[in-house]
Amino acid sequence: MLPSTQMEWIAAAGGAVLAVLGALSARYVAARRRIERSWTTAVERKLDAIGEVDDLMVVPLVERLTPMQQLLGEPGVSYLLRAGKTTLLFDTGLNRRSEIRPALVQNADALHADLQRLDGVVISHVHPDHVGGSGSVRHRTFAFAAEPLEPKGLPAYVPAPMSHQRAEVVLTTGPRAIAPGIALLPPLPQMMFWLGPVAEQAVVVNIRGFGLVLISGCGHPGIERMLAVSELVLDVPIRAVYGGLHLPVHALGTPLMLQSTIGNPHPPWRPIGERDVASAIAEISARGPRLVALSSHDSSPWTYGAFTHAFGERYRTLQVGDELTVSAAGVRWRPLHSTTTPTP
Ligand SMILES: [Zn+2]
Ligand SMILES: [Zn+2]
Repeated sequence: MLPSTQMEWIAAAGGAVLAVLGALSARYVAARRRIERSWTTAVERKLDAIGEVDDLMVVPLVERLTPMQQLLGEPGVSYLLRAGKTTLLFDTGLNRRSEIRPALVQNADALHADLQRLDGVVISHVHPDHVGGSGSVRHRTFAFAAEPLEPKGLPAYVPAPMSHQRAEVVLTTGPRAIAPGIALLPPLPQMMFWLGPVAEQAVVVNIRGFGLVLISGCGHPGIERMLAVSELVLDVPIRAVYGGLHLPVHALGTPLMLQSTIGNPHPPWRPIGERDVASAIAEISARGPRLVALSSHDSSPWTYGAFTHAFGERYRTLQVGDELTVSAAGVRWRPLHSTTTPTP
């Protein structure tokens, strides 16, 4: 039998845990209800024609998977987009403190991507793996690296209030064209039990003779809603889905345990599962996509398999340096060895 002081201590600790869980549950249920009622309110406005580009090039500068040693992999996202004459950086990776040089900077150098020659930055949402680390989240900002490398006056399109010492921050409050053929979808809310609320925006690029490419960071709102919102905002068919969809299914034994637990939009007793993947595949399939490319930072090998089964040759798991070009002529992947300089 435990001494009574220890029993009291255990009872008090148990009570505190239950109180925290109760508060988190109440917060979660209330926010989910609010989101279910209001998620379309930001998208009532339709965009006028946003124009077209002849081609889009996308290359992941940060992804979890990397095909060779001189390119660093980390569980974050940063994509370099070139759509017509416009060059954008979509998210800025995780910026792991253990690395001497952040993956974003190291990989940009190796892939000859000039981070000083950008027309803008788009931040999908304020999570550490998309804004350059948890320090950036704490300060509601984003960063390429520990030292300030961002060009002065660079337009930065953000989905939630943020600030930056050098960039010109522009808050997205609804659908918005930001350059010929390029638009932002309105930030969509999502509530996670442990992480709390988040608002996430996606980019769409309209390619002449091809249709829309939708580019997603983590996909927290769910691809179903992102596709629906794109269709509410623009009268152009979606032909490609690219980036994070947050489907870390059967994550036990993979490096995606964290994503599967704290990034779960369901209550903790319902993990992200096979039916979520089936639903995402069904929604994407219904659009007749010519390309589906899944980020390796927030989906698991089981999900890559399910997507490969569903989309065959049209599917790709993204790795650092995997250069994609989309045009009226179709989809082309450039072999990495022709884009990198071998280390001596
Ligand atoms: Zn993410
Ligand atoms: Zn996230």
